[in-house]
Amino acid sequence: MQIPAAFDYERASDVANALALLERHGPESRVIAGGHSLLPMMKLRLARPDWLIDINGLTELDFILREGDQLRVGALTRHTALLESADVAGLFPIIRDAERVIADPVVRNRGTIGGSLCQADPAEDLSTVCDVLRALTVIRGPAGQRTVPMADFHQGPYETAVAQNELLCEIRFPIRPRSGSAYEKVERRVGDWAVVAAGAAVALSADGTVDDAAIGLTAVGLDGTVPEAEAVLQGRQPHEDLFAEAGRIAAAACDPVADRRGPVDYKRHLVEELTRRVLRRACARAAGAGQG
Ligand SMILES: Cc1cc2nc3c(=O)[nH]c(=O)nc-3n(C[C@H](O)[C@H](O)[C@H](O)COP(=O)(O)OP(=O)(O)OC[C@H]3O[C@@H](n4cnc5c(N)ncnc54)[C@H](O)[C@@H]3O)c2cc1C
Repeated sequence: MQIPAAFDYERASDVANALALLERHGPESRVIAGGHSLLPMMKLRLARPDWLIDINGLTELDFILREGDQLRVGALTRHTALLESADVAGLFPIIRDAERVIADPVVRNRGTIGGSLCQADPAEDLSTVCDVLRALTVIRGPAGQRTVPMADFHQGPYETAVAQNELLCEIRFPIRPRSGSAYEKVERRVGDWAVVAAGAAVALSADGTVDDAAIGLTAVGLDGTVPEAEAVLQGRQPHEDLFAEAGRIAAAACDPVADRRGPVDYKRHLVEELTRRVLRRACARAAGAGQG
């Protein structure tokens, strides 16, 4: 059995206290949320924090709140809460699509959206979802609060805009009329990490043409969205040929590596097919829902 190196532990009482503890215990302190990514890393000695600051008591970071033209989600919101939220399902079906295929109920009951984004694993699903929904992240630190768009949040594999002495507190999703979204993943067995996954979000104009489209890919070496594929959709009527064209462009733009999950050609084929499927579903949802 793998055992982590020795560490000390403190439980934060609120956000201000968590930030004070991170300051006090210095660069070798890390916050722990669900622990489903950090603890395996510690067992493998890929992470060796001296201090763990437990933020599970920070109920102020556990919320899903519709406010004006935004859905606000606290960083400590568990996967299960996202999966079961009627607001999330109605406004952003892509989140529910993704949550259905993230791990298993044990992981989903503890793992958080904040931990998922901060872990920044290239095969992690919610980062792609937040990218295509053009979410904003709210980060708090000793210097106060700042807002960082998802496009600037990830700074490479396992690296984010959140500094060691800061906390990701909230993710804000803009609500757009006549919009729809979808996510699809191919996994080797139920609950596994993605071989490849794709997400799309589409907003339609009043005449039914595409006003804005975002496409994101998981586990194929791309950070953020795929602007080349998004551009071909702009101003056009949703159509199978258009989805296929975007799929081909996405397959050419991605940069997968061969590994035990499959060779490069197979992954590019999956990107093409999944991109086509999520665009089809996102457009159908946008046309059918008016808003959602
Ligand atoms: C068996 C298994 C299968 C899985 N399968 C999938 C999958 O298919 N798809 C998928 O996307 N994920 C998968 N996961 C990961 C899962 O979604 C985790 O819940 C998630 O990656 C991390 O969330 P957490 O709350 O457990 O974070 P933790 O492990 O507690 O933390 C992860 C990192 O984020 C930092 N952190 C946490 N919260 C904050 C915050 N608010 N502010 C600043 N830093 C913070 C921590 O310091 C740490 O560095 C799987 C995990 C397991 C164990």
